[in-house]
Amino acid sequence: MHEMSLAQSIVEIVENTAQQNQASSVVAVKLIIGELAGVEMHALMQGLKIASQGTVMQEAKIEIERPGGTAWCLKCQKTVPIHRRGEPCPVCGSYQLSVNGGDDFRVSELELGDS
Ligand SMILES: [Zn+2]
Repeated sequence: MHEMSLAQSIVEIVENTAQQNQASSVVAVKLIIGELAGVEMHALMQGLKIASQGTVMQEAKIEIERPGGTAWCLKCQKTVPIHRRGEPCPVCGSYQLSVNGGDDFRVSELELGDS
């Protein structure tokens, strides 16, 4: 499952960062997952639950920011909003789009515990 390996890589990043900062727990994790990142959110949350068991991230609150997708339309010569890859331009209906935003997938912030 794609989301399970994504969840594992998030937990790894969080664990490494906590270790570097000598934190024994993580209070909150903020993720940025764009609308076009191709991630099934429900599956990711379940994956995170499983992958974080027994780690510093076990009790962490998970916040997710979901920037909307955008693409450059060759016909309109401007950036337009899209919600799925393969969607036509909402302005002119053209399929000549190249995604230029909303495909991020990263850990943006960590709140580490003191003790
Ligand atoms: Zn267009």
